[in-house]
Amino acid sequence: MADSKTKEILDNLEQLAKDAAPSTKVLFKKLKKKRPKTLDYIAQEAHEEVFEEIDCLECANCCKTLGPRITDVDIARLAKHLRIKPGKVIQHYMTMDEDGDYVFNAMPCPFLMPDNYCSVYDARPKACREYPHTDQKRFYQILDLSQKNVETCPAVYEIVERIKEAFDGAYQKKEQRNEY
Ligand code: SF4
Ligand code: SF4
Repeated sequence: MADSKTKEILDNLEQLAKDAAPSTKVLFKKLKKKRPKTLDYIAQEAHEEVFEEIDCLECANCCKTLGPRITDVDIARLAKHLRIKPGKVIQHYMTMDEDGDYVFNAMPCPFLMPDNYCSVYDARPKACREYPHTDQKRFYQILDLSQKNVETCPAVYEIVERIKEAFDGAYQKKEQRNEY
């Protein structure tokens, strides 16, 4: 059986991200400067389309390789969910990073199950809920972050490629007309 789109991108992500980086850098520099009104619409559409095709349960790369910053509110929520005291959550599952923030004490995340489900899904930290941030407004503010997340997240890779497809043609035409 052919690989799914998720696996296909995930298995080649390092090389894909490397190959895409130069053209992403050029376009994102222009987008940061121009902040086109259509960016949010294009990014939102790309986000929705891509998450119809990408299956996080076939991936879980963020849960395996990134350490989300965990707040006191997150710890309280996890404690309630696990029915243990917040101190025990810290003791069993957290460590402090060099910035003084709590992060999980193991990678992959201690709550990631073998089938890629999150065992604390309803009580997962805010940073986990928000990743990979591609459905947020004012997308120009997360261009740098998205460029970085291409290295980890197949969905962000695909979203960024679709944004590039949408804008590259338009900018090339403007450049030909010497508007830039
Ligand atoms: S958000 Fe991205 S990195 Fe995380 S599981 Fe989904 S596709 Fe993979
Ligand atoms: S808490 Fe859940 S969503 Fe967050 S990193 Fe761990 S397994 Fe992934």
